[in-house]
Amino acid sequence: MKLEQVIHEKEFDLNKINKFASLMTLGNGYLGLRSSHEEDYSDQIRGMYIAGIYNKATENEPSEIVNLPDITGLRIEIDGEVFSLLVGTIISYNRKLNLASGELFREIIWRDKHGFRFKFTFQRFVSKQHMHLIASKLSVLSLDKKVKIKIATGINAQQTNSGRQHLIEDRVRVFDDQFIQGVYQTTESNHTIAIAALCRSSNTNPPIFSAKSRQINRVITKELGINDPFVVEKMSTIYTSLDRDIEGYTPEEASFKALRTFSSHDYDFLLQRSSKKWMDYWQQRRIKITSINIFDQLAVDFALYHLEIMTPAHDERFSVGAKGLTGEGYKGHVFWDTEIFINPFHAFFESNTAKNLLNYRFLHLEQAQEKARRNGYRGALFPWESAFSGKEETPEYAAINIKTGERQKVASAIAEHHIVADIAYAVVQYYQNTKDESFMKDHGLSLLKETARFWMSRVSKQNGMLVIKDVIGPDEYTEYIDNNAYTNYMAAYNVEQALHFMEVYQGKDKNFFDAGRDFLNRIYLPKPNKDGLIPQDDTFLQKPEIDLTLYKESQGSQAILLEYSRQEVIDMQILKQADVVMLLYLFPHLFPKDIVLKNLQYYEEHTIHDSSLSKAIHAIVAARCNEIQIAYRFFQEACLIDLGPNPHSSDEGIHAASLGTIWLAVVFGFINLENKNNRLSIKPRLPQEWSKIVIPLHFQGRRVEIVVTHQSIEVTKLYGDDISLEINGEDRLLTDKVEIKGSMEEK
Ligand code: BGC
Repeated sequence: MKLEQVIHEKEFDLNKINKFASLMTLGNGYLGLRSSHEEDYSDQIRGMYIAGIYNKATENEPSEIVNLPDITGLRIEIDGEVFSLLVGTIISYNRKLNLASGELFREIIWRDKHGFRFKFTFQRFVSKQHMHLIASKLSVLSLDKKVKIKIATGINAQQTNSGRQHLIEDRVRVFDDQFIQGVYQTTESNHTIAIAALCRSSNTNPPIFSAKSRQINRVITKELGINDPFVVEKMSTIYTSLDRDIEGYTPEEASFKALRTFSSHDYDFLLQRSSKKWMDYWQQRRIKITSINIFDQLAVDFALYHLEIMTPAHDERFSVGAKGLTGEGYKGHVFWDTEIFINPFHAFFESNTAKNLLNYRFLHLEQAQEKARRNGYRGALFPWESAFSGKEETPEYAAINIKTGERQKVASAIAEHHIVADIAYAVVQYYQNTKDESFMKDHGLSLLKETARFWMSRVSKQNGMLVIKDVIGPDEYTEYIDNNAYTNYMAAYNVEQALHFMEVYQGKDKNFFDAGRDFLNRIYLPKPNKDGLIPQDDTFLQKPEIDLTLYKESQGSQAILLEYSRQEVIDMQILKQADVVMLLYLFPHLFPKDIVLKNLQYYEEHTIHDSSLSKAIHAIVAARCNEIQIAYRFFQEACLIDLGPNPHSSDEGIHAASLGTIWLAVVFGFINLENKNNRLSIKPRLPQEWSKIVIPLHFQGRRVEIVVTHQSIEVTKLYGDDISLEINGEDRLLTDKVEIKGSMEEK
């Protein structure tokens, strides 16, 4: 398959150096490697992270994903002068991340300050074939002059998380006069990390090694003739004490053993093997969009690339951080982002991965029960932010308000309880897509029961009804409110589903069942008011409104908090992100279409979209209301969250959930796909700009491909048993292929 989608950086721009390092991150779900440049620049943040490797710098701080020793840095000296693009002249510059092969490529023709030209080609990949392997290659050509070149590279453990050092250097050493190795220990979580590296070139001079100040390096020197190509290849392997695939070896032994095996191959061979895996991935998953805006295809490819590299599919002990493994934003913590925004993608492609992500929560049921107990509740109260231990990891205070000098307490850990029901929702969604009975019996049901038990203890009685007080819904610009519509409906769904699956698998536990039925009969579920508006909470619609136009223009930056205090924002009708709209997205049939549209319009007007999770959800709800062009505009704006012009939008990492929402918007929005009474139902409407879309999906053990144009819908079964479908409201049996012709406009 030919895939010409690349993320391109056409010029060297220091202002965007960290944004591109995030966007172009290489990875495989086991590890993520930021695409920083080989040579040093003072503002550049290098980063390599492994799923599950967290540490606390001090006892009272939350765990954070550890920035591991760097293996990408290269110090290049030409006739004694250090290569840097900040001196001399850049004649040409081209850097790209090839999404098809997973390779980062940079080619530069550069004139040094004395007027001599050099051509550098840097290549790098993180293997998709062998998750512990990283390889790179440097090719240098001196175009005008004979020079002496000196290259130093190795393993650099001076890396920190913005100054916080998480690693003790245990030992460094050289093996067999060619391999170098560093072994490190996290200071609090006690993980071992071993990195081995091999650096080789066509040079035959005896190797020189040095170890100093937490660095171990190999130095290569060479006399370079004019147009005499010089190539340096580097391979690194990395293992940790969390790895399950080391078969009785220590990380130290495993990294060395793997490196020795790979050392018999060259960069190109290893790249080819890794690219083949990427090709397989794209063949199975790529969504193909024929659009007059070619950016649409790129944005969807970019989302699918990152969804793959952010997900630790290999191990259920880990989940997806809010920035994947691309940076240190949110300290690598796991939020509801995974269950609501990322897991559906996996549930529709690789159900094992979706199951692993849910098992991550199952494995931490005990910690969630403990958090519930500590707060006076029963059941399981999952942490708002979690990491490896499954305990609450939300920092106590948010960043300092530099105007007031005060630190604001983060309320989410105390009150953003909807995460409990979000996890339950994801359990049911996974089950409905896969019919995985054994998961539901063994793990899903416990999750549903314990989360339901939490809600039953979380409510209070008021006028004969059950109400949920003092919560924060998805909209974090409204705090400590009563009867948040999203939370109440989700809690009710959680309890209802727990009762349903308990009946199916366990027979009735009478006490639980009676309490659950009572809960469902009495829980207060806000209904549309006389104007058709579903109140976001008990007081929201009575609060004053202000014109948000200005803040919407700089959405994502939380600029409003510079002009108003948090309390002032809380006391007005100002939304950070979709809240009622989120509810309408998750339950498309809760209210009639006119009510859905009215609420979308009302809440959209009051939403700044300061959260990256917001825009694409509005796109889905708009598409379902048949407001396709509005949906398309929201979709396009969502695609710009990482890929747009803001030079610093992604410095601390990509927005993982937002990339998930791009997939959601295409599938649940424009294809209007849903699981309706256990059947796949689609009702597609394409934006004018799209003439065709091809979507591959997995559903209940089948693989299907959906092709939609403005005149036709075609669904082909690629694998599995016959299946009945609903297309545009009509029943169809899919044995081989189903085709519907005629205008796709709303009938
Ligand atoms: C959003 C949360 C989200 C978190 C991590 C916050 O800004 O409001 O909903 O879970 O970012 O992505």
